[in-house]
Amino acid sequence: MKRLTGFQPTGNLHLGNLLGAMRPLVQEQQEGTSIAMIADLHAMTMEHDPQVLRRKTLEVATLLLAAGVDPKRTALIAHSQIPEHTELHYLLECVCHFGEAARMIQFKEKSAAGGPVRLSLLSYPVLMAADILVHDVDQVPVGDDQNQHLELARTLATRFNARYGETFVVPEGVRPESAARIMDLADPAAKMSKSARSSAGRIGLLDPPETIRRTISRAVTDTVGIVRHDPEHQPGVTNLLAILAECTGEAPGAYTSYGALKRDVTDAVETLLAPIRKRYAELADDPGYVREILAEGKALVRPAALATVRRARSAIGLLD
Ligand code: ATP
Ligand code: MG
Repeated sequence: MKRLTGFQPTGNLHLGNLLGAMRPLVQEQQEGTSIAMIADLHAMTMEHDPQVLRRKTLEVATLLLAAGVDPKRTALIAHSQIPEHTELHYLLECVCHFGEAARMIQFKEKSAAGGPVRLSLLSYPVLMAADILVHDVDQVPVGDDQNQHLELARTLATRFNARYGETFVVPEGVRPESAARIMDLADPAAKMSKSARSSAGRIGLLDPPETIRRTISRAVTDTVGIVRHDPEHQPGVTNLLAILAECTGEAPGAYTSYGALKRDVTDAVETLLAPIRKRYAELADDPGYVREILAEGKALVRPAALATVRRARSAIGLLD
C-alpha cells in the first residue's frame, strides 16, 4: 500500500501537525511505500515571499527528519523538484471541468479574502491530484479540510481511466489512526492551525521552552473547577487532557487543579519536543545534508513517476 502525506511549507509547524500527521507517518513508514511530500508549489497559490518559501521548504524537510522520518524507509520529496508532477497536472486539467475546480470550498474561502486571485489557487487541487496519481498512491491520510480535494483526485482518476483506458490507481482517503485533533489553546473551539491569525494558542515545534510554558499557562479553561473530559462544556480542559494523553501515551491521572494539569502538560510537551528541537538544531547546521536527502527522495520516486506520465501521455494521445 503506497501512502503519501503532504505538508505545505507555509507558517510554523505545530503540535497538531506533529500528533495528527507527522507521528503517524513516522510510526507507519515502510521502505518502498512511504512518501512524505513538501508541497512547495501549493505555497505559491497566495501572495508569497521567495526567500521565505525557500527557507520554509528546508525547515519543513528538516523538521520531518528531526521528528523521525527515516530517509531509508520514506522518500522525502519537494514536489517542485519532480517535473512529472507539473506535467501530469496539465494532463489532468484536460479532464477537470472549470465548475469542479471553482466549487472547492478552499478556493471560495481563500479567493474571497480580497485582492487579485492567482489562477493557481483555482487549479491547485488538480495539482494535488497529480501529486497523488503520479506516484500510484493507494492511501492518502487526510484531515477533514482535504476531503473535497481528495474526492476530486478520485473523480479525475476514474474519469481518465474510463475515457482513455486504465492508467491511474484510484486513491483512497484514510484518517490518520491517532487522529487527535488538537485545538487552539487560546480558542479551544478552533483547531490549532498554521494560518490562524493569532499565535497565542499555538505550540510551535520550534518554540523555545519558555514560550511553550507561557502558552500553556495561559491556555483558556473555564470556571467549572473540575478536571474532566467534557468537550461540550469544558473544551479547553478536554484539549489539555487530550494533549497530555497523546504526548505521554497514557491516560491522564486525576487532577484537582487546572494549574497542576497545566504543569504536567508543559512537562509532557517539553519531553516530546526537546529531542526534536535538538535534532533539528544539529540538522539545520548542515543544510547540504537535507538537500541531499531531498535529492535521494527524488531519485527514489522518479522512475515510477516517469512511467505513470508515459502511460498517461500515451493514453491521452500524445506522441512519445
Ligand atoms: P493551514 O492553517 O495552513 O491549513 P494546518 O495547521 O491546518 O495549516 P496543514 O499543512 O493543512 O496544517 O496540515 C498538515 C497535516 O497536519 C494534515 O494531515 C492535517 O490533517 C494535520 N493537522 C493540521 N492541524 C491539526 C490539528 N490541529 N490537530 C491534528 N492534526 C492536524
Ligand atoms: Mg489545514
